[in-house]
Amino acid sequence: MATGPIRGGYVGHDFYCDVAIPDLSALDVVYDDESVLAFHHTRPFWETHIVVVPKKHVDSLTTVGADDADLMRRLFVVVQAIARDVEERAGAAAVLTNLGRYQDSKHLHIHVHSGGRLTTE
Ligand SMILES: [Zn+2]
Repeated sequence: MATGPIRGGYVGHDFYCDVAIPDLSALDVVYDDESVLAFHHTRPFWETHIVVVPKKHVDSLTTVGADDADLMRRLFVVVQAIARDVEERAGAAAVLTNLGRYQDSKHLHIHVHSGGRLTTE
């Protein structure tokens, strides 16, 4: 159980299952239903930086299996809606997911971002 502030201290490998999904109160939630959660990144890398995650644990894009087809469809609908909204507001957006060494938290998460790179750390 993580009890500290959301920005500090978390050193595990699944921020989403351990911190974000159990307690949405600390998040700036963009979308929330029984299977998908989207929120503004707690440590944004870009001016607009939203992450979209399945609430059920999935390791990464490359481990998605046939059993996850319905969940992936639901996830993609949310990614598309958020990306469309960012694109309309900002004129441009990017959608990405990291794999392997690039993936910090070992729970599938899709970044939707736009605008300049922030230099926070
Ligand atoms: Zn997880």
